[in-house]
Parts: sequence; C-alpha cells; structure tokens
Amino acid sequence: MTMGTRFFQWKNDAQKNDAISEAAQIIRAGGLVGIPTETVYGLGANGLNGEAVKHIFEAKGRPQDNPLILHIASVDWLERYCEDVPELAYLLAEKFWPGPLTMILRRKNIVPDVTTGGLNTVGIRFPDHSITLEIISKADVPIAAPSANTSGRPSCTTAADVLEDMNGKIEGIVDGGPCRVGVESTIIDLTVTPPRLLRPGGLPLESLQEICGDIEIDQAVTRQLKDGETAKAPGMKYRHYAPKAPVTVVTGDAQKAAAYIRAHLAPTGGVICFDEFVPMFEGHALESLGSAFDQAEQARRVFDALRFFDSTDVSEIWAQCPDSAGLGLAVANRLKKAAGFHVIDADEEERA
Ligand code: AMP
Ligand code: MG
Repeated sequence: MTMGTRFFQWKNDAQKNDAISEAAQIIRAGGLVGIPTETVYGLGANGLNGEAVKHIFEAKGRPQDNPLILHIASVDWLERYCEDVPELAYLLAEKFWPGPLTMILRRKNIVPDVTTGGLNTVGIRFPDHSITLEIISKADVPIAAPSANTSGRPSCTTAADVLEDMNGKIEGIVDGGPCRVGVESTIIDLTVTPPRLLRPGGLPLESLQEICGDIEIDQAVTRQLKDGETAKAPGMKYRHYAPKAPVTVVTGDAQKAAAYIRAHLAPTGGVICFDEFVPMFEGHALESLGSAFDQAEQARRVFDALRFFDSTDVSEIWAQCPDSAGLGLAVANRLKKAAGFHVIDADEEERA
C-alpha cells in the first residue's frame, strides 16, 4: 500500500512546534514517522502498540525476530518498561544519557512481543536530539524505532535519505538536519555478568569500560557468524549496510592499505579512503571518510559513503578501514558488515 508521506520542515519556531505536534499526533494515532536522532534517523511508532510496531517491520522489510529499541524522554521512564533495573544502569544513564547508548534490560509485560522480537529483554535509549525528545514527550509514549533505512541498506543520516527509502510507505518524516554522530548507538547487555557489548556504536567501548570495568565482546561484533551460531543482538546476524556492488575492506597500516587497494583496483572500481590518500585514486568514483586521524568525522561519513555508490555503476568497492580504538570499532564494524566480512589485512599481505 502506498500513502502520501508528509515531509516536515520549518522556517520558524511556530512551524517547528506545529511539526512536532503533528508528528506526535501521528505516533499517538498508530502511524509511522521518520525521526531525527544524534546517531542515525529512526523509523518510529508507538512502542506499546503492537499493530503500529508491525507496520515498522513491513515498511522496512525487516525480519520479525529483529527487536526494536524503545526511545524514552527521561531516565525515570526506565521503570515503566523494565524490571529489575540494576544500579549500573542508573550509573550509565547518569553518565551517558541522553546519548548514543542502548541498554538491554529485563522487560515488563507492558512492552508487546513484536517490539522485543519475543525476547524477555528490551533495548532502551534516551536519545540526544531536542526535536525527537519533544515528539516523545508530546506523544507521551516510548517510541520504538529501528534505523529508518530499508532493511539491508546503509542507515540514513539525513531526512533526504529517509525519503529515498520510505517515501509512500510511512505517514511522515521530520527533518532535524544531518546526524551529529552518524553511526547507531552502542548496545550493552546489562542482564548478564560481566556486561556484554552487543554492537559497537556512537559511544566508544573505552568510555563504557571506565564505568563497567570488564566487558565481554559478543562474537558477532568482530566476525561473521557461522551457520548455527547465534548473535545476542539478533540484528547482528544479518547482512547489513550493503551497497549493491561487492565491498572489500582493507585493514592495517593506512599507507600499506592504500597501496594494496591501488594495486588491486579494477578500472571500474570505486574507493572509500581517508582524505590523505585521495590523490592515489584519481579517475575512480571515490568517497572520503575524512582524515585518517578524525574518527568522529569517519563515523559521520561512513553511511553516506556506502550509500553514494548505489548512484554509480561501479563494479566493486574497496574501503580503507580505521583500527578499533575509540569510534574506530564502530566504523570498522559497519564497513566490515557492508563487506560481508570480506576483509584483507595489508600488514599480513606484506609479510606473506
Ligand atoms: P536498529 O534499530 O536498526 O539500530 O537495530 C536495533 C538493534 O538492537 C538490532 O541489532 C537488534 O538486534 C538490537 N536489539 C534490540 N533489542 C534487543 C534486545 N532486547 N536484545 C538484544 N538485542 C536487541
Ligand atoms: Mg538498522
């Protein structure tokens, strides 16, 4: 079914307030709205309304077993939806909320099965975006929102990206500008000891370790799962973020990686690289991730870079990749997933 998708933009505060009210009204009425957050755009619905949540899965083409994150507008909403909230959750909330951190906690029954993919836990986040916080507060319900992309495609970091994927499938899109962080939230499971990192994201693992101490890293973060292995975050098992052309990621020393790519690149190949190496790939479709030394910029650009190639006819894509310190862990994870974990290590190649 197609519908007219409203695109909310504004020139002054009065129009902005109207847009927020209308978006909140759509959510309350069981509709779907593309909403801005600091990480990536979300596809939001009333997380307590099972019918509305079902439509999210339909609009995205998302597998039903892949649960959604509930977005709340205040820390004290935690108790409305979660059972046995550990002290650590409050510590993390105090330190990192609002912000790019999702906590997995035991759910209360008020949260419907469709929202949690049938799990007895729920992912919760207090996002850091004033527009969306106002929409959640006005709607007075938690907003269940996965990333607003069509399932499998790179996530959306602008309202225009959301329009590209969701036009005619949802009631509205709110343009809150480009996303400040650019990769999804970091997901930590607090129902196990030690806590477990399920997805690297906009909050560096090192920041979490300062508060939590020991953190186990789920195997799906760093490698492709084999048949029969399960990911603790169901979403981590799916092919993800992938452009149409096949992607190869080259890790290791940046200079060596660039040289390796140049030696193996087909004439019709596209390149994702750091600013410093752009001149090596003249004549190729190219997206820069920003400087090799600026991880925040790499995070902001990585999805846009992956999306860009779908508007070209490159036969293959080669990507340079940051190391796993700080936000590099999240950027590298998105690139490797886009590549189906087809990764070459330039340092090893040199030794071989
Ligand atoms: P997205 O909203 O597209 O960023 O996807 C949400 C991610 O959170 C997916 O990888 C889900 O598998 C994960 N997730 C959401 N809820 C849970 C939960 N209760 N337990 C484990 N992972 C979850
Ligand atoms: Mg997603």
